[in-house]
Amino acid sequence: MTADFSKGAAFSDGKFVPAGEAAISVLDWGFTRSDVTYDVVHVRDGAFFRLQDHLDRFERSLQGLRLSPPYSMAEIGEIAMQCVALSGLRNSYVAMICTRGKPRIFGSRRPQDCDNKLIVYAIPWIDVIPLDVQERGAHLHIASVPRIAPASIDPTIKNYHWGDLTRGLFEAHDAGADTALLLDAEGFVTEGPGFNVFLVKDGKVLTPDRGVLEGITRRSVLELCEMLAIPARIAPLTSDDLASADEMFCTTTAGGVMPVSRIGDHIMGNGRPGVVSLRLKLSYWEQHKAGWHQTPVDYSIKTT
Ligand code: PLP
Repeated sequence: MTADFSKGAAFSDGKFVPAGEAAISVLDWGFTRSDVTYDVVHVRDGAFFRLQDHLDRFERSLQGLRLSPPYSMAEIGEIAMQCVALSGLRNSYVAMICTRGKPRIFGSRRPQDCDNKLIVYAIPWIDVIPLDVQERGAHLHIASVPRIAPASIDPTIKNYHWGDLTRGLFEAHDAGADTALLLDAEGFVTEGPGFNVFLVKDGKVLTPDRGVLEGITRRSVLELCEMLAIPARIAPLTSDDLASADEMFCTTTAGGVMPVSRIGDHIMGNGRPGVVSLRLKLSYWEQHKAGWHQTPVDYSIKTT
């Protein structure tokens, strides 16, 4: 029987398998210690968006954690391409993950003794904030739990240390909000579970300067602002800035530019997405269609 890749394809232990069948050992330190990094790139209408930028960030994350998977970055790009081709998906969420793996010497506590493991998978498209919520503008809860300190876990290395973000999500849902936004211990705005944030004040677009993953979508929005002559800046932002924002939006690979209409008690734009947010959202997807940063998937390379 031939494998069914229609719900996604994965590369694990050197083989291509249906995404649901890819697995890691319970003894892998990626699982027991969250000793892992990853990156996520999207495919939209049959083309990768900023594939090389995602590979470059993945490489920086690997170096930051002293991980070295048994494949070159060029090979990882090829594997990602093959996962998408096998799945046949035109719109896909493509993850590349490197775990510390298991020690070669039983009982070793030395990370140097582990064989690092690469997993890549392509699954159907995911929106971090559902489309109907994006339509009316997401309601964000300002979490009481502070974002983990960058001195402990570097947020520019994409990681699964989601304890604070998950607590924030529970708080947000208990409060009837859609998702959460976390401040750092000093009260500066950071990010949310799976996204960067922007606010718009007096026509200027602002995004936090600390405690965040340097999102590829965030970078894209800053580039779009330049292209559209919208003033934009990376700056320290506090809850006072949130309370006086005219507009807000979140950004992520799995969703793009996602408008926000409420932050805590502050309702923006009569509870609807703002004009600048919608302009950037539209432009983001229009630029995709125009070929901006696109790498078309070669669906003919289906060899396993
Ligand atoms: N911040 C966090 C914590 C994330 O997990 C993500 C994406 O998953 C982002 C920001 C957005 O980054 P990108 O635009 O590169 O997807």
